[in-house]
Amino acid sequence: MITVTINNKKYEANEGEYALQVLKREGIEIPYLCYHEALSPYGACRLCMVEVTGGARPGITTSCTLVVTDGLEIQTEAPEVVRIRKVLLEMYLAEAPGSEAIQELARKFGVERSRFADFDIEAKGDRCVLCGRCVRVCNEVLGVGAINYASRGTKSNINTPWYGVSSACIGCTACAYVCPAGAIDIIDSGDERIMETWNRTTLKLKECVETKEFFATEKVIDHVYSKALDLPEDLKEVSAGSRMRRRASEFLPKYLRK
Ligand code: SF4
Repeated sequence: MITVTINNKKYEANEGEYALQVLKREGIEIPYLCYHEALSPYGACRLCMVEVTGGARPGITTSCTLVVTDGLEIQTEAPEVVRIRKVLLEMYLAEAPGSEAIQELARKFGVERSRFADFDIEAKGDRCVLCGRCVRVCNEVLGVGAINYASRGTKSNINTPWYGVSSACIGCTACAYVCPAGAIDIIDSGDERIMETWNRTTLKLKECVETKEFFATEKVIDHVYSKALDLPEDLKEVSAGSRMRRRASEFLPKYLRK
């Protein structure tokens, strides 16, 4: 274990972890968008900036990419850090005027309005802040790579290749799950899952043989079975709830006999 000082108070930390992980563990509030515990550090949104006041490299840096070392001293509320954070939040408000999650985050850190756009809380505009979590989860975690950054500058966006229906997307919904801005729309309708945001890429859903509920896309099931060895074939046909009930009915009698 090593010792780091955050806002003049000492904390224990594990060698090699990132400062943002320590901040989160210790309940020290700091905003972030591109960080997610399932993904590698990215340092893109810049919101998790802290000031390093003691240690090898003093200055302002992103805590999600700052590896803690023994004796590191950081301040999360230094005046310059707070100033940069507020300007960034104003920019995100302007970039994603339709995202309630971003409005809430900005409000939490003292920003109600943006100087960079006519900010209207009722606006239903763009919700994406280009943090890239969806791109990275699709690539890094699933190994699918159905979406990526497209275009440049003010036209930057995240999309499927050629802005069309994706043949790669498996409809797992991980992208929507990790999106901090609520920018990805998915509609389940009957036996279909429609990835609205990904140009209405449509996937067939599988029906549970026991409950008759539609529970996952056929492509997701194939993907899982292609990665995991020795999964019983019959589990392909049943929802998570039915799987749990099956396991409970297999194991509970043994325990109840004890
Ligand atoms: S739903 Fe499609 S785009 Fe989203 S993470 Fe899964 S495979 Fe990638």
